[in-house]
Amino acid sequence: MCAATLSAQPPQAADFRLTVLSTQTADSRGIGEWGFSALIESGGKRILFDTGNRPDTVAINTKELQVDLSTVEDVILSHSHGDHTGGLLTLRKQVMTKNPKALSRLWVAKGFAYPRLSGNSERTPGADVLSAFRATGGEVIEVDNFRSIAPGLWLTGPVPRKHPERNWSGSGRIRLPDGATAEDNLPEDMALIANTARGLVVVTGCGHAGIINISEYARTQVSSPRIEAVIGGIHLFPASDETLAWTAARLKEQGLHVLMGSHCTGVEALYRIRSLAGLTRANSSTGAVGARYSLDKGLEAGTIAR
Ligand SMILES: [Zn+2]
Ligand SMILES: [Zn+2]
Repeated sequence: MCAATLSAQPPQAADFRLTVLSTQTADSRGIGEWGFSALIESGGKRILFDTGNRPDTVAINTKELQVDLSTVEDVILSHSHGDHTGGLLTLRKQVMTKNPKALSRLWVAKGFAYPRLSGNSERTPGADVLSAFRATGGEVIEVDNFRSIAPGLWLTGPVPRKHPERNWSGSGRIRLPDGATAEDNLPEDMALIANTARGLVVVTGCGHAGIINISEYARTQVSSPRIEAVIGGIHLFPASDETLAWTAARLKEQGLHVLMGSHCTGVEALYRIRSLAGLTRANSSTGAVGARYSLDKGLEAGTIAR
């Protein structure tokens, strides 16, 4: 399906459940790290969104949480940073012994493989991940536009930077396909969007494109009046008080009801936004490894993160 086929009545996800497999906080099950990964389940489809930082964190956490990835064929990498790509090869090699199709289809957005420049050095972290993944027999799909991945689920592809949110750290540059260089604003940063009966659910890795850019773009593309939930990292830990207030106000305007601000959201940023956006302890948390969000049970943040 392409954007042109999105009608006034876009398809809805029949159900939606997300389980966090990598984030900073952990309690009795799994280990915490600087990274993000989550399993998404909707309408019988299971999708792995990001793969954590250290090679074996998600492998360990899925074992302790008794989550089986051997029946998951699709894996999304939200962007090329190592704290989202680090577990991919370990997981692919582990599950393909049980099912050759497991984690065999990888979705990344345009710009993922662009070379990264720092001083005089040029690295290709995204391209390196893709070539190692292809060497396992996996297929890579590059997303350059908002597109469906399952009924009621979409990938944003690169997100237009309407607001100057600058939700990234560092001052690196990228080499573009025409040879020119530009500031590395993580042009490949991609979110997953679910259209549910309650509104849109937005799943981000680091949200480097800016959570307001992402959520407004998703609402335009899916013709949705409101955002039900934002789940994942939104990279606001270094943000100023003004930025946090602006972000919280925009999220409130969009009707945000649930916020699981994991990973690089930042603990103080999460609680500041919770207060400013009128959210509660029950529906807004940093979440822990094993935390869940589902349409029927809402947010189950984990013992330590309640
Ligand atoms: Zn990142
Ligand atoms: Zn990150």
